[in-house]
Amino acid sequence: MQHSATTSTKHMPGVGARVLVVGGGVSGLTCASALLECGFEVLLLEKDDHARIASSVAAAIWHPFAVGGARTDRWAAATFAWLVDCARDPASGVLVRRGLECLREAEAPLPGWTALHPAWRRARADELPHDRPAGLVFDAPVAEMGVFLPWLRRQAESRGARIERRAVASLDECAREAGIVVNCAGLGARELAHDAGLEAWRGSVLRVERGDLESFVLDSHGAEATYIVPRSRDCVLGGSVEPGRESLEADPATLEAIRARCVARLPRLAEARVLSHATHLRPWRREVRLEAERRPDGTLVVHNYGHGGAGVTLARGCALDVAELATQGRVAQALLHDAPLEARRRTPTMDAQPAMRPG
Ligand SMILES: Cc1cc2nc3c(=O)[nH]c(=O)nc-3n(C[C@H](O)[C@H](O)[C@H](O)COP(=O)(O)OP(=O)(O)OC[C@H]3O[C@@H](n4cnc5c(N)ncnc54)[C@H](O)[C@@H]3O)c2cc1C
Repeated sequence: MQHSATTSTKHMPGVGARVLVVGGGVSGLTCASALLECGFEVLLLEKDDHARIASSVAAAIWHPFAVGGARTDRWAAATFAWLVDCARDPASGVLVRRGLECLREAEAPLPGWTALHPAWRRARADELPHDRPAGLVFDAPVAEMGVFLPWLRRQAESRGARIERRAVASLDECAREAGIVVNCAGLGARELAHDAGLEAWRGSVLRVERGDLESFVLDSHGAEATYIVPRSRDCVLGGSVEPGRESLEADPATLEAIRARCVARLPRLAEARVLSHATHLRPWRREVRLEAERRPDGTLVVHNYGHGGAGVTLARGCALDVAELATQGRVAQALLHDAPLEARRRTPTMDAQPAMRPG
């Protein structure tokens, strides 16, 4: 598959070092591929059955929602291009759908994603629900996670990644297996990275018959998120945002409220048969944590978690940054530990370089 300049890693044959990725959700699998492209050897460990993690529940439309941090725009833009590219392969489970985002006021400020999106337009009056004065029409990738996650997994495995079902008790344990660890544990990073700033934001969705529905509808306002996302065979209705509520037990009142809000947006959905429902926890943090941490034993841990309601929307952009940090870390490790002493003595450092003299 070809990737455009904004979505590609520079291939670096010979980096060769082993990286241990913790987490088999959309973040971990996408990082695994980006690391393999850079020449790393990848071992990915996952605690849970991949059908039972937050990534498998996502409506998975590209739309930055319930996520924080200054770098999200860049990550979302790179991921948009990558998802459109993935959609060229029908086996990926990614579709590009056209749809509408409703705005509550005619003069409402434009959502931030409009600065990243290559083509969007204002909705005409006949495209809007009667109680919404404005809206935006645009194309967005939608990933069917039941297809997309196994496809990402196959992509990683076919490039040489080893994937094992194993819980990791601590980052120290990981450090015994690899010099570079990538922490994509989602909410599991609360324990692994002792991060009390990582919160569970519960969300529920319904899956209904799609009928002939082709276009998505988004109508979010503050913490209230209403979305209708038609996929290939079914349609996802969402959503809910319940910070701090950690039970995975669905709440019938919440599900009914979601359905009612979606029917209010699109009355034809009143007839759509409900096929299933799902509830999971978004790993929310004030800011996505994507940074490298050098541990006292020399291990490099690259953290990549806290993507809130936008883990799919940001996956590839984050993975590119993770691969870059891992590559920089590997170069530093090689200089410090791998090179023979003589070579290290010869390695120019800032201190060792002669001062610049004029003339
Ligand atoms: C209802 C709902 C709707 C959503 N809709 C969208 C949407 O439309 N668009 C969008 O972009 N995002 C959406 N999201 C958000 C998205 O699902 C998350 O941001 C994303 O799944 C986070 O992915 P992740 O890989 O970081 O974490 P997860 O998917 O949670 O994966 C974490 C992985 O780490 C593993 N792990 C954890 N601890 C350990 C350990 N100690 N040892 C080994 N493995 C461990 C787990 O087993 C799992 O494999 C939605 C979320 C919900 C709940």
